[in-house]
Amino acid sequence: MRSPASLLQPTGRAPASRFHVLVVDDDPLVRSAVAALVGSATRLVTQCGSAAEAREALRRQPIDLVLLDLNLPDASGLDLMPRGGNGQPRPTVLVVTGDDRIDSAIAALKSGAHEYIRKPFEPAALLRSVENALAARQLEWENAVMRARLEHSERLHRYFVDNSPDLIFALDGKGYFRFVNERFVALLGHSRDELGAMHYSAIIQDEDLPHVQWAFRERRTGERASRNVEVRLKGRGADGEALTVAVSAVGMYGEGGDGVPLASGGLFLGTYCVARDISARVSAEKIIAFHAFHDALTGLPNRTLFRDRLRQAIAEARRRRKLAAVLFIDLDRFKLVNDTYGHLKGDQLLQQTASRLRKCLREADTLSRIGGDEFVALISDLDARADAEAVAGKILNELAAPFALGAEQFQTTVSVGIAVYPGDGANEEELIRNADLAMYQAKRKGKNGLAFFSPELSTFYAERLQLEQDLRGAIQRREFELYYQPIHNVRTRAVERLEALLRWRHPAHGLLSPARFVSIAEESGQIRDLGEFVLDSACAHLAQWRAKGNAELGVSVNLSPRDFDRNDLVECVLQATRRHGLPAAALELEITENVLIEDMDAVSRRASRLRGEGVRIAIDDFGTRYSSLGYLQTLPISTIKIDQSFVRDLGLRSSSDSIVAAMIGIARGLSLGIVAEGVERAEHLASLRELGCEVMQGYLFSRPLPGAEVGDYLARGRAH
Ligand code: C2E
Ligand code: MG
Ligand code: MG
Repeated sequence: MRSPASLLQPTGRAPASRFHVLVVDDDPLVRSAVAALVGSATRLVTQCGSAAEAREALRRQPIDLVLLDLNLPDASGLDLMPRGGNGQPRPTVLVVTGDDRIDSAIAALKSGAHEYIRKPFEPAALLRSVENALAARQLEWENAVMRARLEHSERLHRYFVDNSPDLIFALDGKGYFRFVNERFVALLGHSRDELGAMHYSAIIQDEDLPHVQWAFRERRTGERASRNVEVRLKGRGADGEALTVAVSAVGMYGEGGDGVPLASGGLFLGTYCVARDISARVSAEKIIAFHAFHDALTGLPNRTLFRDRLRQAIAEARRRRKLAAVLFIDLDRFKLVNDTYGHLKGDQLLQQTASRLRKCLREADTLSRIGGDEFVALISDLDARADAEAVAGKILNELAAPFALGAEQFQTTVSVGIAVYPGDGANEEELIRNADLAMYQAKRKGKNGLAFFSPELSTFYAERLQLEQDLRGAIQRREFELYYQPIHNVRTRAVERLEALLRWRHPAHGLLSPARFVSIAEESGQIRDLGEFVLDSACAHLAQWRAKGNAELGVSVNLSPRDFDRNDLVECVLQATRRHGLPAAALELEITENVLIEDMDAVSRRASRLRGEGVRIAIDDFGTRYSSLGYLQTLPISTIKIDQSFVRDLGLRSSSDSIVAAMIGIARGLSLGIVAEGVERAEHLASLRELGCEVMQGYLFSRPLPGAEVGDYLARGRAH
């Protein structure tokens, strides 16, 4: 391939300003006479007397015309007949000789002489011959220059066409390739010869053929010609993607065609096309489109695509009288992985979860990730609700096996909520929302389980939502207050401490117990302010009661697991006791075993610091949640509170008796204090005393009392 620079330089000698004539004759008189005759302003004459001199002159410069005598002293003039070669144009030779033999003339003409002129010559005739020869030469030269220019121009155009990044080709009237450029050959992988016999339809993907036929056989020209028609070719782009081009085509017409489309006569010659390779753009567009409908991390359909599929499934289920189920799947402890092991591991967990979930579903089912750790599955074409339950069961099973996250093993569980069309929702929004509600229900029931949607859930959550709104600003509006339940030592008959129990005096619903609002406050983040309020009020009240003759009295405050997420928990607690001048030991914090599942290390660190300051720590509702008792040894616990569910059955069920006996045994073994909750009846009290438990709270002694009534209660107790 020539360089573009060389293509821009036309070849061919520049036009001569003067012709150079060489007069070769051994007779000096003839020589100078001829020189005088032919020399002029436009003709430079050099004279030579021998073959040697002539050779030298020919070698030195370009000579246009030689007037050559055959009889030279050192050689025959014929020996000087130029042979051409070496790139120079050959001089024209006129033989001017006294030799009048016919065979000499023939020999001279054969070896390339332009004319054979016999001496003595007629000066005018010689001059005419010279002028004719030079005129012919001039013409020849002009032709050569013209040819060179044409060749150059052809090369230039060819270069541009072949080096164009576009595919340029021409089809004949019947649609066969008549011209293709280099790029076309390179991209399509057919040789020029093969293409010569090919019809354009052979290179177009079958599905596209019907739409693009007209563009490839375009008969229109100018403004009306086809532009940028997208078509996929049978060939592969650089990255193996299908080759997509945008074709612009113009009709070609023969003589007589004036650019106006002619009725089908013989004048339509074919179509000239330029096709731009837009594969890269098309594949970029595909990627963008994919991301618009898929989750980048797992490659699963996103919410938009899921809803679309669900809409179709609903229509299909309605038509075929079948069921379609939405499964809402939530990883129970995803946050823990993210916080403990980092986001990278969290991402791995999600990816592995996605692929395990996928395995539980059929090809036709849709799995989608619609939130951080939330997946939804669409299962269509079902005959019974039980079928959806079976899939959910499979999912619980599949996800129960530990996940390998690098070197770590991680065990997680999921909660699955199920909503089935048509019973549990009429459209995709309702179904997804109701499956979500059912998932929450599954979580509330203790995680790692499944729940079906039911209409009561819907009202339940609607109320929850309302309460969440009402909760905002409720502290400022002073709607919260603390009730206190006395905790008695039945041997000394003294009230050891009081458990602070939160109440919400709701403007519409009246006095609400914590069961109604604590979990809402936890989810909405308002538990933080609530916790601070409880700590501060409880300490304030206790300080008052201690000042009025109950110097040894303590208070118990319930903490939410969320309180234990706080980095500043320890400071917050200590500030409350200090603010009201209480010793840290007067305060007991009740935590449930739930707190321990979440992040044992952080809980243990914070609890130890509190314990180190003297604050007491009690395990509330002992025995109802976390089954491992190992934490009793690692955590700095002061007290365990036996849950009321065990106390309730005391004396009724022997199993309860032995569980409570075991709990008391454990507490003794670890030198922990023990409190029995929910003591309602005299039999409970008797059984507990028998088993060796002396500290109790329950309706038998007192219901939780408003703060204002506690003073009297304590005074009465002291009077006994
Ligand atoms: P808990 O800490 O186990 O509190 C004992 C619950 O049992 C209280 O319910 C109390 O009224 C009730 N109770 C006491 N004696 C008896 C009895 O003899 N029989 C029966 N059946 N029940 C009895 P309450 O006040 O509705 O509190 C429920 C739960 O809410 C508490 O359980 C505690 O976990 C939580 N809670 C209460 N106050 C707060 C608070 O300030 N913050 C947080 N985070 N949670 C609180
Ligand atoms: Mg409690
Ligand atoms: Mg309790």
